Amino acid sequence: MSNPSTNDPVSELAGLLRGRRTVVLTGAGCSTESGIPDYRGEGSRERAKNPMQWRSFRDDAVLRRRYWARAFVGWERFGRARPNEAHLALAELESRGAVRGIITQNVDRLHRAAGSKKVVELHGALAEVRCLGCGAFEDRDSVQRRLAEKNPGWLASTAELAPDGDAELGQDFERFVIVACQRCGGVIRPNVVFFGEGVPRPILESAWAVFDEADVLLVVGSSLAVFSGFRFVKKAASRAMPVGIVNRGETRGDPSARVLVDGRAGHVLPRLLTLLE
Ligand SMILES: [Zn+2]
Repeated sequence: MSNPSTNDPVSELAGLLRGRRTVVLTGAGCSTESGIPDYRGEGSRERAKNPMQWRSFRDDAVLRRRYWARAFVGWERFGRARPNEAHLALAELESRGAVRGIITQNVDRLHRAAGSKKVVELHGALAEVRCLGCGAFEDRDSVQRRLAEKNPGWLASTAELAPDGDAELGQDFERFVIVACQRCGGVIRPNVVFFGEGVPRPILESAWAVFDEADVLLVVGSSLAVFSGFRFVKKAASRAMPVGIVNRGETRGDPSARVLVDGRAGHVLPRLLTLLE
């Protein structure tokens, strides 16, 4: 161990984080080992073929019906996903005071399930639904129960899960019955940022507040293809704030990184935790 940095990037990463206040940016790769697929593929920077656009959801009742039909099936698995070793290691690092907060691009709420306290959900959370009319919130589980009542037998279809809790159906989604806001009868939406929407300003301000408390940025499981996450790497670079990246495959932030670890989050982070003890 005279010079671990020459051989072991995880040791090098531990050296980068040791004694510093860390802000963590997480993406889909942090949750793949919880059974939630990364729609960009491991290391790939390609977009999903046809992600739901916000304007389509808002303006097209047919697409909205299809969205909910797929989400209804997808939630059965997505809603039961459990934190993996990466989430648990990050929660432990926060409890030790090393991690000051997590900014996540994930909508699965698994950081909170793992015990992390300061979590900014850049893209919202699928666990919440809100009304486009009156703004009322409803738990996704509650919406799921209402959808199940209206669509008995629907879940019998098998489904391939897509990353936003969406799923491919072998069924005729036009028969699917959607539900409305319980308070005003308005159109409901998942409380997530669709493609074509921006991150809400208050959320972004919370993220910058966490970022500003730290003096090193650790990226976990993101190819940084989307600007909502990449902006933090750009800001770090502009401040000469060191950046460490744990990801399978290359990322858009690689040129700005002091340390790169090519590996699975669920494998790398427990090792990192041990090295930082
Ligand atoms: Zn409403």
